[in-house]
Amino acid sequence: MGATLKDSYNRTIRDLRVSVTDRCNFRCFYCLPHGEPPIAPKEQMLSYEEIEYVCDIFVELGIEKIRLTGGEPMMRRDIETIISKLAVLKAKGLLDLALTTNGYFLPDRAQSLKEAGLDRITISLDSLKRDVFKQMTGVDVLDRVLSGIEAAKQAGLQPIKINAVIVRGHNKDEVADFAAFAREHDVKMRFIEFMPLDSGHEWAREQVVSGREIRERINDRFPLVPVDAYRGSETSARYRFADGAPGEIGIIAPVTEPFCGACSRIRLTADGQIRTCLFSTIEHSLRDVVRTGATRPEIIDFIETVVMKKEPRHYINDPGFVAPSRTMSFIGG
Ligand code: SAM
Repeated sequence: MGATLKDSYNRTIRDLRVSVTDRCNFRCFYCLPHGEPPIAPKEQMLSYEEIEYVCDIFVELGIEKIRLTGGEPMMRRDIETIISKLAVLKAKGLLDLALTTNGYFLPDRAQSLKEAGLDRITISLDSLKRDVFKQMTGVDVLDRVLSGIEAAKQAGLQPIKINAVIVRGHNKDEVADFAAFAREHDVKMRFIEFMPLDSGHEWAREQVVSGREIRERINDRFPLVPVDAYRGSETSARYRFADGAPGEIGIIAPVTEPFCGACSRIRLTADGQIRTCLFSTIEHSLRDVVRTGATRPEIIDFIETVVMKKEPRHYINDPGFVAPSRTMSFIGG
């Protein structure tokens, strides 16, 4: 057996999210409503060579899944280049190489992502209605994203996951329609509770549509059956349709049903900071360690020490909760 990364609560870390850019071409109101804050200068961002090097070390330490994210990861030039470099790590123990995207660039690029070695893709889609989509994302491109989903399917980037953040007063009434979409297009439709990670700091608990409410809304129209009793470190509770229709439902409820006890994730920001929790208020600069000439064993020692500091849980529901200063587009969702 290879090495494993463990934290001080005996959780095994298998899943690394790598943000490749802070830039984004969407303005989702729950993430970056007021546009991009100043973006870090290029010298502070990890180069593709640095990402490749540290990911090689992470895989040696037992990371099995790498998900590229952002910002919008497809805004980084030649994302296919880093995908092909990371795909090589599959010979060393990487099992799964995935990407989360808003889908804007997929109509032209889904095939090249697949050819570069990407296994799977998750595409964000917050509404099936043109006006609501525009109001939630700040851009009028619903048709283009739908074409992107189709292109990803054609390219064989399956199983395709679709992420929708459900927010009261915006898209709550579309929950069952999204389930119909999953059935029709044979995709894994994942519903995410709105988290306090918006750059406008306008999150309010009343806007959160709970996982339970989402489940009930779907179940009323399309009865659901849980997929497995044992969820492991999965973020979502998974369901299939009782009538055997294609597609799957996943409900991610970090606010009302936290799953921190089974968390297997750490994150690397585009400027090379390790974050041990979405809600961490401190970061650890792997970039500085790498750039000051640390040896591979020293880098491994640094990563192992940082992972031991992983928070036991998030504190969203505690009275003194403080949202992290960096928001989702900088953390890498
Ligand atoms: N640009 C890519 C995209 O749109 O998927 C990747 C980055 S985005 C930050 C990753 C995921 O985080 C998206 O599915 C997005 O909907 C989700 N997200 C962003 N802000 C959120 C929030 N405040 N609460 C819940 N999910 C959020």
